[in-house]
Amino acid sequence: LFAGPVDFLKSAPGLEFLPDPDAPEIAFAGRSNVGKSSLLNAITGRNKLARTSNTPGRTQELNFFDVGQPLALRLVDMPGYGFAEAPRDMVKRWRFLVNDYLRGRSVLKRAIVLIDSRHGVKAVDRDVMDMLDAAAVGYRIVLTKADKIKASELAAVLEATRAEASKRPAAHPLLIPTSSEKGMGIAEVRAAVLEDS
Ligand code: GDP
Repeated sequence: LFAGPVDFLKSAPGLEFLPDPDAPEIAFAGRSNVGKSSLLNAITGRNKLARTSNTPGRTQELNFFDVGQPLALRLVDMPGYGFAEAPRDMVKRWRFLVNDYLRGRSVLKRAIVLIDSRHGVKAVDRDVMDMLDAAAVGYRIVLTKADKIKASELAAVLEATRAEASKRPAAHPLLIPTSSEKGMGIAEVRAAVLEDS
């Protein structure tokens, strides 16, 4: 499916700008700089589909990508989180947008929570998993930038993340270590996205 067309559809700065719910959606969540744009580019095989995080203005919006012709599914790039120094009203706006989307989106099939392999699950990640659990949206966990750490460190972070996830209500059938840089785990993420949609 990813060999066919993948196109940026639109950015939604608020719920009133969401596209019609006419295709299943898989949403990608992760703190700023976790490697979300790189992963979206890797799984779609496009170099510049998702702009890198640091593009001002787009970091606070939901970005929609259409996959397939005819339309088969939508990938949703959720706004990055983890801005410790962000102004409070910006954080508040982020929470409202994400919460409303997660709770109200009938076509949202699954989320993918991205965790940086070097850092493991942080408080801001737990916060987002809490929001997903509360909205009853199932999610998979993808570890990013696995090429940046040793195999033994990766094994440890996988184990710790698995332990963390097992404490949560939602089912987490798959925990996928990836490297967008090296192409590791990308086929697995694609397969998970197709299965979930
Ligand atoms: P985003 O803010 O989550 O969209 O993160 P980006 O995709 O823009 O990536 C943030 C930084 O991490 C960039 O400098 C990327 O080149 C780098 N990066 C992303 N994925 C990988 C990876 O798999 N391996 C390595 N070594 N670097 C990565």
